[in-house]
Amino acid sequence: MRRFESVLGEWPSWIDTAPHSPACRSHPPDLFFPSATSGGKSVSGQVKKAKAICDACPLLNICREWAFRQPIQQLHGIWGGTTRSERRLLRKTGTTQITS
Ligand code: SF4
Repeated sequence: MRRFESVLGEWPSWIDTAPHSPACRSHPPDLFFPSATSGGKSVSGQVKKAKAICDACPLLNICREWAFRQPIQQLHGIWGGTTRSERRLLRKTGTTQITS
């Protein structure tokens, strides 16, 4: 079965040794890689759903810090409750905090 993968090519190893189980593990991986072709569901709806799962994840902060350390162009999808475009934007501000 396909697991979460980025174009980095692998499920991040830190997740397998993390002190808690990632919330995303019990959800379809595709939810975290939204696309316009995902069964007619809107991209924004998919993003919102994935972010809600991340918000309840005990690994949120660790995951977000990890995602921010990855090359922007090489990490697709939602990680640590952020999309790639949000990571790009937040990187410019030098913060990992999202204000909504
Ligand atoms: S923060 Fe989101 S992407 Fe990261 S491990 Fe948790 S549920 Fe998965």
